[in-house]
Amino acid sequence: MTTLVLPGWTQTYAGKVRNLYVPDSTPEGEEITDVHGDVVLVVASDRISAYDYVLSPAIPDKGVVLTQLSLWWFAQLAGTVADHVVSTIVPDEVAGRAIICRRLDMYPVECVARGYLTGSGLTEYQQNGAVTGIALPDGLVDGSRLPEPIFTPATKAELGAHDQNITFDATVELVGPETARRLRDLTMEIYHRAEAITAERGLILADTKFEFGVDADDRLVLADEVLTPDSSRFWPADTWSPGRAQPSFDKQYVRDWLTSPESGWNRTSDAPPPALPDAVVTRTRDRYLEVYRRITGKDLEL
Ligand code: ATP
Ligand code: MG
Repeated sequence: MTTLVLPGWTQTYAGKVRNLYVPDSTPEGEEITDVHGDVVLVVASDRISAYDYVLSPAIPDKGVVLTQLSLWWFAQLAGTVADHVVSTIVPDEVAGRAIICRRLDMYPVECVARGYLTGSGLTEYQQNGAVTGIALPDGLVDGSRLPEPIFTPATKAELGAHDQNITFDATVELVGPETARRLRDLTMEIYHRAEAITAERGLILADTKFEFGVDADDRLVLADEVLTPDSSRFWPADTWSPGRAQPSFDKQYVRDWLTSPESGWNRTSDAPPPALPDAVVTRTRDRYLEVYRRITGKDLEL
């Protein structure tokens, strides 16, 4: 993973997609007891991950799409939840792909809302008729709309491992009953609000993941990326048809290529995936730009 040196900032974390930096004046590695005025520069790279591998090459401008789409959503959600955005005035090297954010103590829970059944939710349902302990009616198939949207939390995995779905009770164990309830209620409120917005644009918000943290004033704050194709499944409403995998604006295109005979990759082997051909990179980039356009109603200025 390439490390971008930003004068005045020190990198503290490299995730699969994002790199975090703190201002040089902030002592590194110190326990954050008072996050007042503490900020973190969240930089979205063009890296793309699938099946828990970071693929190569990167998808040009993907980090800009993720950042600009998140900013658009933070603005839409302004009345619903406090967010971590402090400033978009960032070093030139990362213009468009970075946000100066309030530095939060992140909750160790991925807050997932699902309105439709697919992915790990579907797998769990097929095993025991429930998702994270929430019993669902019989007869649901891939892509089914749920009777009502549900909160299906997961624990954040260490780099290279799958996130693990957990029950609400397990969430209570991790963060306490009061916070667990607030995370659930806020997650569902944001999902409902976002779903109404995407519906107007002909897109189904099948599921999405939020991350929250707490600031020095004990305020719950929405952080990370929001409602992007990396954290959410968007399906064109006009082609939705339960009983099969849905065409999707998320990384499905890349996943499908990786698992096709064309790629020559055996997912069950230990071998890393092959390099993405130019055509796959271009097509994937187009999908990211298209979902930005569909949701915001405008072209991304690059
Ligand atoms: P992946 O998303 O690929 O599963 P990841 O979540 O570890 O892995 P990234 O999304 O690349 O990696 O990195 C973003 C990291 O920054 C996450 O760990 C996220 O929890 C953290 N983060 C996001 N916003 C804030 C914030 N305001 N304060 C502190 N940490 C944050
Ligand atoms: Mg992440």
